[in-house]
Amino acid sequence: MKQVAILGSTGSIGTQTLDVIRQHPDRFGVYMLSAGSNAALLVQQALEFKVKRVVICNPDRYRDVRDALPAEYDVRLGIEAACEWVRDAEVDVVVAAMVGFSGLRPTLAALEAGKTVALANKETLVAAGSIVMSTAARCGAHIYPVDSEHSAIFQCLLGACGNQVKKIHLTASGGPFRTWPKEKISGAGKELALKHPNWSMGAKITIDSATMMNKGFEVIEAKWLFGVDASAIHVVVHPESVIHSMVEFEDGAVIAQLGLPDMRIPIQLAMAYPERLSLEGPRLDFSKLSALTFEEPDLEKFPCLGLAFKAIEKGGNIPCAMNAANEAAVAAYLHDQIAFYDIPKTVSRVMDGVKFVENPTLEDIFSTNSEAFALAQSLW
Ligand code: NDP
Ligand code: MG
Repeated sequence: MKQVAILGSTGSIGTQTLDVIRQHPDRFGVYMLSAGSNAALLVQQALEFKVKRVVICNPDRYRDVRDALPAEYDVRLGIEAACEWVRDAEVDVVVAAMVGFSGLRPTLAALEAGKTVALANKETLVAAGSIVMSTAARCGAHIYPVDSEHSAIFQCLLGACGNQVKKIHLTASGGPFRTWPKEKISGAGKELALKHPNWSMGAKITIDSATMMNKGFEVIEAKWLFGVDASAIHVVVHPESVIHSMVEFEDGAVIAQLGLPDMRIPIQLAMAYPERLSLEGPRLDFSKLSALTFEEPDLEKFPCLGLAFKAIEKGGNIPCAMNAANEAAVAAYLHDQIAFYDIPKTVSRVMDGVKFVENPTLEDIFSTNSEAFALAQSLW
């Protein structure tokens, strides 16, 4: 029986993690739940799974959670409590499913304690990849990817038998604006950008998918997780989202992982690895698949993807600055304060404007994040 601590239990990945646990009550227990603001759902989850350690991060919601749960439930305010609880000896797996830079500190706490981390929170790797990976190595902690593409690559690599990888083909759905002309995209408001064709996800990653910043983040995520150079990562648009990514070897052979777009599959594998457990749900029906199509991404329409490659090339604290600028810009776009193409414009200007640090410490990462966030907000 594995005890799971969930960072971000009220989100899209968090609730699907609990769906998986619901299907395997004999395999997983929930040790801790943490959320940002959604007090009502957090309380409901704590009662259903009888989780006695509960963290809420929004101070305005603390009383709602405290008052709704019996006295024996330990309810704490703020992410520091989660950072403490993920270190407890009872915890086997930490599901890192918070969104954005805010997930960095508790994820590092889990890795420092040598815990297995099922990592969804890609922004931690974008902002602090070198620190996250070296902490995991130093502390003997495993990181298993939850992001569907990275789970696919991870699964494909199980067939590599230690052989060198020539190329990673990272698939992208292309998002809701794939077929739109640039002029039409430029006027698109959040209602349209939030309509992802294949996946149902949290608001921030859905906007990141519409700008293709998400794919840029995933290139950086793949670089750190699998130790490959960015030049060996090829982004290919595959609108059906059936092939979740592919790995090519020296002899030209390509191994792919296929499945329906269901995040519970990679979540469950990351929690249960090396075991594959059963999972209820629809299955891929090959007789109904009429075609699998592929095209090159359009960097003119989706400049964020190019910016991510530029950030990798510059290195140091620039990916962190890019992430912070994007976080600020996406929040502003979701509040109807800026237009769609102001997102890449903001990111580009912040990447050029922040103080460069070649080998950032964790302290540098936190100060770059604040500096870049403030710089982005000063631009509109
Ligand atoms: P959601 O927005 O649905 O959920 C985010 C979770 O984090 C919620 O539980 C939220 O709490 C909590 N949270 C947000 N801000 C804070 C904060 N400042 N402090 C503490 N908790 C906070 O996001 P997703 O589940 O979609 O995504 C989570 C992560 O996984 C992201 O990094 C995303 O890129 C990645 N990912 C997601 C995929 C998906 O299919 N959804 C696929 C691949 C990767 P509350 O709602 O209570 O405020
Ligand atoms: Mg993905």
